[in-house]
Amino acid sequence: MRGDGVGVSAGEQVPTETRGDGMVLRVTERTRLRRMPERVSLERRDLEEILDAGFVCHLGVLDGDAPLVLPTVYGRDGDRLYVHGSVASRSLRTARAERPVCVTVTLVDGIVVARSVFEHSVNYRSVVVLGVPEVLEGEEKVAALRVLTEHVVHGQWDYARRPTRQELAQTTVLALDLGEVSVKMRSGPSEDGDGPDAALPVWAGEIPLRVVASPPVADPALLPGVAVPAHLESVVAGMSARFAPRPSRPASGRAR
Ligand SMILES: Cc1cc2nc3c(=O)[nH]c(=O)nc-3n(C[C@H](O)[C@H](O)[C@H](O)COP(=O)(O)OP(=O)(O)OC[C@H]3O[C@@H](n4cnc5c(N)ncnc54)[C@H](O)[C@@H]3O)c2cc1C
Repeated sequence: MRGDGVGVSAGEQVPTETRGDGMVLRVTERTRLRRMPERVSLERRDLEEILDAGFVCHLGVLDGDAPLVLPTVYGRDGDRLYVHGSVASRSLRTARAERPVCVTVTLVDGIVVARSVFEHSVNYRSVVVLGVPEVLEGEEKVAALRVLTEHVVHGQWDYARRPTRQELAQTTVLALDLGEVSVKMRSGPSEDGDGPDAALPVWAGEIPLRVVASPPVADPALLPGVAVPAHLESVVAGMSARFAPRPSRPASGRAR
């Protein structure tokens, strides 16, 4: 299985603010892609599309001397990402200690099948966020929980019972600024279509992967007569579109 390139030059990512309107992402020494720098996106639109499509991230913390990376849900509001969990959660306890964290969001769009084993790959869109999270309390905490809830299942904040004081006390909510981020994307076929392996009678192409929501299944303890609300029908109907990559995006797998 192909890694992510060997000996590729660092490209044109300049560690600076490149445009004043905020639509181009700032590159720092830490977020500059070294491998396959042509797969970078500096478009804020791509950052927002990926973050708004996904709802599961991986939160990486330093737990003592050892890294700990755990999956969790998130929500985005403007320039901030929110994660939450139990006050007893080890990763969140570590993250709230004013220490740097790394959050990644990954959308997998397909498996790239190549003529050689080496050139197999994955089509994806991914985001890395670096920073020191802030612990939210009071109204900010409730507002963040609303964002997070709505991000995962739009319409539930107004439909379901809101958190009690006790439930809020049991929950840690962290906010992470989107100030130091990187976006990397791969699309298109394998890279051996341009080389000598193109002459091999071996099938190559992509197995596209899509997120599809099935019809909702009722909780067995549901009160009789409670129907699936319209907003959940909309969530189900919109799931594939939510995760689908933008069709106009140029292929990055092979130089054309
Ligand atoms: C689903 C999926 C599968 C992958 N499979 C492989 C694989 O099998 N082998 C492999 O070598 N690589 C794979 N990659 C790419 C991998 O994520 C790294 O980009 C790559 O390995 C280069 O790593 P590096 O340590 O050299 O990063 P560098 O280029 O040195 O990273 C420098 C900075 O670039 C940014 N960056 C790096 N990678 C990403 C990313 N994916 N998304 C957003 N920002 C990024 C970060 O800010 C990082 O601090 C995969 C990516 C995804 C999303």
